[in-house]
Amino acid sequence: MFDIERYYEAKSVEDAVRLLSEHEDAQIISGGTDVLVKLRDGKGAGGTLVSIHEIPSLHGVHVLADGTLEILPATCFTDLTYHPLIQKYLPYLGEAVDTVGGPQVRNQGTIGGNICNGATSADSAATMQTLNAIVVLQGVDGVRRVPVTEFYTGPGKTVRRHDEVCCAFEIRPEDYVGFTGCYMKYGKRAAMEIATLGCCVRVRLDESLKTIEEARIGYGVAAPTPIRCPKTEAALVGKDVFDEGIYELIGTGVLDEVNPRSSWRASKEFRLQLISELAKRSLKEAIRRSLNHEAPGMAAPGEERR
Ligand SMILES: Cc1cc2nc3c(=O)[nH]c(=O)nc-3n(C[C@H](O)[C@H](O)[C@H](O)COP(=O)(O)OP(=O)(O)OC[C@H]3O[C@@H](n4cnc5c(N)ncnc54)[C@H](O)[C@@H]3O)c2cc1C
Repeated sequence: MFDIERYYEAKSVEDAVRLLSEHEDAQIISGGTDVLVKLRDGKGAGGTLVSIHEIPSLHGVHVLADGTLEILPATCFTDLTYHPLIQKYLPYLGEAVDTVGGPQVRNQGTIGGNICNGATSADSAATMQTLNAIVVLQGVDGVRRVPVTEFYTGPGKTVRRHDEVCCAFEIRPEDYVGFTGCYMKYGKRAAMEIATLGCCVRVRLDESLKTIEEARIGYGVAAPTPIRCPKTEAALVGKDVFDEGIYELIGTGVLDEVNPRSSWRASKEFRLQLISELAKRSLKEAIRRSLNHEAPGMAAPGEERR
């Protein structure tokens, strides 16, 4: 049994916002794979839960009029991985969330919970950083949009206000068109394992597929919050994809931009080794995918219904 004083099933985002503003002790529950584990440990016990799980407008993936991909937060990991829009335009995000837990957790856990829990180890976090995802928050004062790169304020902490519900993630065309990517997770075993380190590298090559036009590097667990490595990203621009020196460049460059710690899972030194090695391997795979002509064009509105 869980120690819950009040449980509300919100019918709409507005309903959830109202319930949150009326109950100071309320917390949102979506899939519940974090919330219920914490409740069992006594965190938030005797409090109020506002469920957003049954709000239809929070499920799915869509294309907006300008080609922006809209990922709705209550979409579970399994649905995300197998969604045709994700497979076509953001396959590396689908692969990243397919590393979460085991099948039961992926059927229940959601991308909204994974980002809003503020965890640096969240498997979608590194990729969402490289996508410059926009977090859409709706609260009593209306809607605001926060870049995910400015969303985290510390371990388990975000800029989300108590009454705000994350109602979408937006990925703009300039952040996915022409890019390939790869997420690599290191854990002690393949399943049911929180990341010791997670790394996503994405590239956009020039038309001749010889030069890196843009590179993006995102990490989970390389710092107290998910991070990007902007200096190394800039250093890769204009580099020849067939020059093996790019792997040395990324592998050493990122080390100046991270801040991992020792924990019971791994020492700081081991994490630094992973940070370097996973960046090299992810870059290699992202380039291979570009050379294999896997980079997507722009999505068309209504495409998900065809
Ligand atoms: C056995 C097990 C294995 C796991 N393995 C992994 C793993 O390998 N990788 C990994 O990344 N995670 C893992 N997790 C953690 C968890 O499954 C994920 O973090 C998941 O994404 C949480 O989503 P949820 O919908 O269940 O969140 P919930 O538990 O419902 O909520 C999580 C937090 O986010 C808030 N929240 C949820 N949705 C919203 C929203 N729309 N707006 C605002 N706030 C919101 C909640 O208030 C809460 O603070 C594991 C969990 C378990 C139990």
